[in-house]
Amino acid sequence: MSYVDEVLAQVEARDANEPLFLQTVREVLNSLRPMIEPNEEKYRRIALLERLVEPEKTVIFRVPWVDDKGVAHVNRGYRVQFNSAIGPYKGGLRFAKNVTLDTIKFLAFEQCFKNSLTTLPIGGGKGGSDFDPIGKSDDEVMRFCQSFMTELYRYIGANTDSPAGDMGVGAREIGFLYGQYKRITGNFEAAAVTGKSPEYGGSLGRPTATGFGAVYYAEELIKTLGRDIKGATIAISGFGQVAWGVAMKATQLGAKVVTISGPDGYVYDKEGMNDEKVDFLLTMRATDPMHCKPYADKFGAEFHEGEKPWGKVKADYYMPCAMQNDVRIEDAKRMQEEGTCNVLIEVANMPTTQEAIDFLRENGWVVAPSKAVNAGGVAVSAMEMAQDASKYYWTEAEVEEKLHAIMKDIFNSSLKAANKFGLDGVNCLIEGANLAAADKIVTSMVAQGIV
Ligand code: GLU
Repeated sequence: MSYVDEVLAQVEARDANEPLFLQTVREVLNSLRPMIEPNEEKYRRIALLERLVEPEKTVIFRVPWVDDKGVAHVNRGYRVQFNSAIGPYKGGLRFAKNVTLDTIKFLAFEQCFKNSLTTLPIGGGKGGSDFDPIGKSDDEVMRFCQSFMTELYRYIGANTDSPAGDMGVGAREIGFLYGQYKRITGNFEAAAVTGKSPEYGGSLGRPTATGFGAVYYAEELIKTLGRDIKGATIAISGFGQVAWGVAMKATQLGAKVVTISGPDGYVYDKEGMNDEKVDFLLTMRATDPMHCKPYADKFGAEFHEGEKPWGKVKADYYMPCAMQNDVRIEDAKRMQEEGTCNVLIEVANMPTTQEAIDFLRENGWVVAPSKAVNAGGVAVSAMEMAQDASKYYWTEAEVEEKLHAIMKDIFNSSLKAANKFGLDGVNCLIEGANLAAADKIVTSMVAQGIV
């Protein structure tokens, strides 16, 4: 049995109850075969892959808090510190009802590779809770965040682990989390948390970074395919911060964004978005994050209740921006049948099932992986850490310029890594991203010994 298969079998047996984690580990390890197999004995001897798939530390803790009526609740908090070979752990916190250890482990594993791709010195981690901020008052959210940080503070710090936002954790939550961290430690240690407001150590350009970065990556890919983003039609899902940034930048570059989606269904706006519509995403999000129908009502667009846009609309590019496993095999088959598109640019973390990816690629689709496409968010978080450390700030234009350069580099280094290992560049962007990311992590792990 090859070393990769051996370790895959071990993970499958040991973490059998963690389907999301297994999904990402299978995808990554399979794509690292060309790097691992020629050096099998060397890597087996130092248990490189066993160490790569095992978090350095996992903390699970009780988060008690009291609601506005005086009733106490208990949620579960997590932080998975996956790999610190190339820098302190870095990665967001996700607050959502369906968060489990599996969710956080999968996100933390993805984060290690994503962070390596940014070329910045950050390791990978992720955290969160099954707390659902939807429908909670500001005071309830504050009490929850304070309780969460009262335990988490022991494990984080500017040189140890720096959390940030993710789904359910935006500027409000980051403010409360950072405030409590500062209060407990008695230190204004700004880089211990990123995604802060610019008034107290946040970076300009952080809210739009993931979305803008995704479009910069898409622009490079589209150029490589010999096409132009200007005039292209793009179908996206979601309507949160990431979808908002994608819609804004794509519209600025002359593309037509024709869909958004929410838990209630999807909106088809044939005319495409403009500044007013893009701004409305934010209003809608702040008012009711469960429904995107108000967009259709306000702008006279079509609303399709309970459906997803995949394969239902004409588009040149699909960019899922909602959440994991949003594009499934039945969606992929419909997308193929619909016939206008053959490029899937993943934006949300792991938005496509492996079955759907395999089906699309067998049918000649180009699939760009989320860990490369959405790395702009964490890249600007690392820039926030750099600004905090130097006690200085960069203008929004400076941040955006650096972000643009990083995204171009991520696309090109993925392409180069695929080609270096004899794969077909643009058709193997998933393998390319994993190989490029792993190169730096593996080299650092080998150099640092068996730790
Ligand atoms: N949660 C975001 C991500 O998946 C941002 C993480 C960060 O800024 O640390 O990359």
